[in-house]
Amino acid sequence: MDKLAKDKFAEQYMENLQRITLKRFEDTSNKDRYDALCATIMGLINKDWRGTKAKARKERKAYYLSAEFLIGRSLGNNLINLGIYEEVKDLLSEIGIDFESIEDYEDDAALGNGGLGRLAACFMDSAASQNLSLVGYGVRYREGIFKQEIEKGFQVEHGDSWIKDGDGWSIRVDSDAKIVKFRDQQVKAVPYDMPVVGFENGVVNTLRLWQSEPFEEFDFAKFNNFEYDDAVAEKNRAEDITRVLYPNDMQKAGKLLRLKQQYFFCSASIQDMVETYKRDFPTDLKFEEFARYHVIQLNDTHPIIAIPELIRVLVDENGIFFEDAFKIASKVFAFTNHTVLQEALERWSEDLMQEVSPRCLEIIEQIDKKLVEELKERGFSEAQIAPYRIMANNTVHMANLAIYIGFSVNGVAEIHSQILKDDTFKEWYRISSEKFNNKTNGITPRRWLVYSNRELTNFITEKLGTDTWKNNLDQLKGLEKYLDDEKVLEELWDIKQTKKKQLAKYILENEGIKVDSKSIFDIQIKRIHEYKRQHLNILHIIYLYHQLKKNPDMDFTPTTFIFGGKAAPGYFRAKGMIKLANEVARVVNNDPDVNKKMKVIFVENYRVTYAEKLFPAADVSEQISTAGKEASGTGNMKFMLNGALTLGTLDGANVEIFAEAGEENNYRFGATVEELAEIADSYNPFEYYSKDENIKDVVDSLVSGEFKDNDTYYFLDIYNELIKPQNGERGDQYYLLKDFESYRQTQAKLNKEYRNKLEWSRKCLKNIANAGFFSSDRTIVNYADDIWKID
Ligand SMILES: *Cc1c(COP(=O)(O)O)cnc(C)c1O
Repeated sequence: MDKLAKDKFAEQYMENLQRITLKRFEDTSNKDRYDALCATIMGLINKDWRGTKAKARKERKAYYLSAEFLIGRSLGNNLINLGIYEEVKDLLSEIGIDFESIEDYEDDAALGNGGLGRLAACFMDSAASQNLSLVGYGVRYREGIFKQEIEKGFQVEHGDSWIKDGDGWSIRVDSDAKIVKFRDQQVKAVPYDMPVVGFENGVVNTLRLWQSEPFEEFDFAKFNNFEYDDAVAEKNRAEDITRVLYPNDMQKAGKLLRLKQQYFFCSASIQDMVETYKRDFPTDLKFEEFARYHVIQLNDTHPIIAIPELIRVLVDENGIFFEDAFKIASKVFAFTNHTVLQEALERWSEDLMQEVSPRCLEIIEQIDKKLVEELKERGFSEAQIAPYRIMANNTVHMANLAIYIGFSVNGVAEIHSQILKDDTFKEWYRISSEKFNNKTNGITPRRWLVYSNRELTNFITEKLGTDTWKNNLDQLKGLEKYLDDEKVLEELWDIKQTKKKQLAKYILENEGIKVDSKSIFDIQIKRIHEYKRQHLNILHIIYLYHQLKKNPDMDFTPTTFIFGGKAAPGYFRAKGMIKLANEVARVVNNDPDVNKKMKVIFVENYRVTYAEKLFPAADVSEQISTAGKEASGTGNMKFMLNGALTLGTLDGANVEIFAEAGEENNYRFGATVEELAEIADSYNPFEYYSKDENIKDVVDSLVSGEFKDNDTYYFLDIYNELIKPQNGERGDQYYLLKDFESYRQTQAKLNKEYRNKLEWSRKCLKNIANAGFFSSDRTIVNYADDIWKID
C-alpha cells in the first residue's frame, strides 16, 4: 500500500468502527475492533470481487462441490493474500490497537472434519491465486465440528456455534435463494458468499455456502391460537437441515438428516448453475452447450446426488429428454475418491433415498437400468455385472453412480490411485481405464508457511533473493545451494528453535504443561483413527518409559511427544486411544525419574488455528498409518514444508515425499502394501506378542493396572483387538505388532541422529527445498489442465 492507500484504509477503518458501534474509540471492545477490520477489508476487496465475477460470467467454469470446507480463520490469511499484513498491523499499532488480540477474537470456521475439508479450503485459495475460475459450493453449518475438551483424560464434546456473534466474512444473497423440495418438506436455501482472495493478484473468487430456512419465520395463525410449539416447529424442522456438521471422519453416517443435507446443498447448487446459465445466455440458449461452460468436481461420495439432481432439473423443469440429459451429465461430472476404507464408501438404502427425493431415486433406477443394458450388450453375465450395479439389494451405491456417469475418476496420491485401479474399483478400471487418473493432494503455502511461519518465510526470501516463490513453490529448489553452508544450516536450526519456544509458551498457556523446547518435538496431529495408528506411537512411548525407568542413564535425546486430534463421538476405540494417550501422559509427566527426559502432551481441540502453531515447531512428523490405508495425507506436507523430517510408512503421499526429498533424509519404516498383502491370510499377531519381549511388555501394560481407564474397558478393548480374533476377523487389523520392531528401531536411529545438529538441519533444508511439488497450486493446475480444461 502506498501512503495514500494507507491513509484511506485508516480512515475507512475508523469510520467503520464508529458506524458499527456508535462508541467513542476508547470504549470500543476487541470484538468491535475485529468487526470493523472485517468490514474494512470486505470494503477493500469489493471492487475486485465484482470484477472477478463479471469477467468470468460467460466463461467456462469449474464448480467444486464439497460437504466440507475446513477454512479456519480468515483475517490473517486475507491480509497475507492482499499483501498488506504487516502494513495493517503497523497501522493498527499506530492507533493503539494490538493486532494479535483482535486476531484472537476470530473463531475458526470449522466446517469440516479433517483432511478432506481442509483440502477443499486449500484448493479454493490456490484456484484464486492461480487466477482460475473455480466456484466452491457447500453447506453453511450453524454448528461446526464440535469443540473438544479433555476432562480427566477423556474427550468431551461441546457445541461450536461459530456464528453466534455474527460472521464478518459472508454476504447473504437473498435474491439468489432457491427452493429445495424433499418428499414431504420444502425449504429455502439461502446462499452466503465468502470471498476467496487470490495471492496478490486482484482475483477474488466465491465460496457459496447454503443455509436452510423455512419460508415463513413462524406461523402467525398458530401463534395467535396459543399453539406456541407448533408455531415454531416448521421453522426448526427447516433449520435442522444445516444445523450440524456430522463429526464422522471416514465413516458414513447412515442417517436421514445427513442424506437430506447432501441433497439440500446439491439441489441448491445445481439449480443455481442452471438458473445462472439461463440468465447469462438468454437468447441462444442451448442445453447441449451446458457442458461447454460447466464442469463439476465431486469431492468424495457426499455430493454425488448432484448427478440425478442435474438430470431431474434438465428433464422435469427444462423439457430435455432423459437421453440428452444423461449425455450432458456424462460430460459435466468428475469424481474424486478419498478413501479405500469400505465403511466410508457411501451406500444409501432405497427407503432413505425415497424419503429424501423420490424423483432422484427414479432417475437413479433409470441410470442403473441403462448400465445393465449396456453391460449385457457387451456380453456380461449377471454375476459379472453385479459389482457395477448402482442399485443392488435395495441400496444405492454412490461411488458406482459417479464412476459410471463421471468422465474422470481420480485418487489423491500415486499409490492411492494405483490401489483404486488394482483393487477398490478394479472392475471399473477394466472397462473404463481412460477415466482413471491421479491428482496428488497439496497444501497452500500461503496459510501453511507465509502466514504461520514468518521467520522461515523471511529466511527463504532472503536466501533466494526474491519472494516470487510464494506462488511458485518449485523455486524452493534453489535453497539446495546452501546444503553445505554451515552458517545457513545453523540459521535454519535457530528458526526451528524460535518456533519451538513459541509453541512451548502456547502449550504452557493452553495445556498448563511446561515442555523443554530443546527436546525433540515429535508430533502426531490428525483425526484419531485405528488406521492412523496413534496407538502404535503410544505403545512405543510406553516402551521408552519402561526402558528409562529400568535404566535412567540410558543414552536418549530428550523428547516431547505431542498428540492432537478429535475422535468421532461414536467411535469407541478412538476415544479409548485418546484416553490412553492422556493416561500415559499423566503417568510419564508426573514421574520424576523420567520427566526431565520425556514428556507427553495431548493438545486440546486440535483445529486449523492450533495446527498453524504446531506444524512450524515440529522436528519429527509422525505419518505411521498402515501401508495402503491413508489415501494421501496433507498434514505430512505441512510438516515437510516447515522443515520437519517424516517418520513414516510407505503410504499415501509419504511415498512421494520420500521420493522428492530422498529416503535418506527421512525415516521410513514398516511393511509395504505388497508385504502386507502377502501375509494377510497368515498373519497371527499373537506370535509377535509371545515372541517379542518388548511387545509383550507394552501390550500387557494395557491391562496390568499401570494405566487406568476408570473402568471404561477402553484399554481392555485395545488389548483385545491387538492379540485376539474378534467377530470372525483376526486380531490387529492394522498390523501394529507387525510394524512395532521396525518403528522402535527407526525411532532409536532418529533419536541418536538428532544430536548431529548440522546433519539434521541439512536434512530439514533438503526437505524444504523439495516441498515445491506439494503446493496445492500445482495440484489445482493439474485439475484445471487435465480434468476441467479451463485456463
Ligand atoms: C491438515 C489438517 C488435517 C489433515 O491431516 P492428516 O495428517 O493429513 O490426516 C486435519 N485437520 C487439520 C486441522 C489440518 O490442518
